[in-house]
Amino acid sequence: MRAADISDDISEVLLTEEQIHDKLAELATQVVADYEGRDVVLVGVLKGAVMVMADFARHLPMHVSMDWMAVSSYGASTRSSGVVQIRKDLDTDITGKHVLIVEDIIDSGLTLSWLLENFASRGAESVEVLALLRKPDAMKVEVDCRYVGFDIPNDFVIGYGLDYAEKYRNLRDVAVLAPHVYS
Ligand code: 5GP
Ligand code: MG
Ligand code: MG
Repeated sequence: MRAADISDDISEVLLTEEQIHDKLAELATQVVADYEGRDVVLVGVLKGAVMVMADFARHLPMHVSMDWMAVSSYGASTRSSGVVQIRKDLDTDITGKHVLIVEDIIDSGLTLSWLLENFASRGAESVEVLALLRKPDAMKVEVDCRYVGFDIPNDFVIGYGLDYAEKYRNLRDVAVLAPHVYS
């Protein structure tokens, strides 16, 4: 769906579908240069990163494998609990592999810092992060993210994979959720 279809629910379109696709193409160019000749495993964090993974991965002119992890940290609320729980683990043995974590958004950074430690302890050769969005003002822990699409203000956003109570993931753009929806 498009922003116009749910205009009552959003206060602002932050990034259009086109801006997102252009940025993912740009990030793919960097990733190709950095990982040439290496065995890369893209790990998407379900469910928010599904759209990022689908569009980013198709820009890569090289072989990669894709795996998925599901972790919980939010539930139906709009604030991070800081508690990370694995709901679905990797199918791949990442020992000796170059792992690129594909994320929708870095908010507090708690989920990612936990994932980075977890992957390092499994013996990955390298672990880097690609995140479409980052909220610099919300970060509680420093996370080294090599590929960042956009730094955005500290508002709750939806669309392009990002949900509120499992809705809005199929919005093409990224938009700020109108406060009346969750308050
Ligand atoms: P963290 O606070 O641990 O960095 O964020 C964990 C997860 O919470 C993100 O991967 C994302 O799924 C969700 N999240 C964080 N900020 C937002 C936001 O503004 N909107 C939505 N829909 N989800 C968010
Ligand atoms: Mg996520
Ligand atoms: Mg969510």
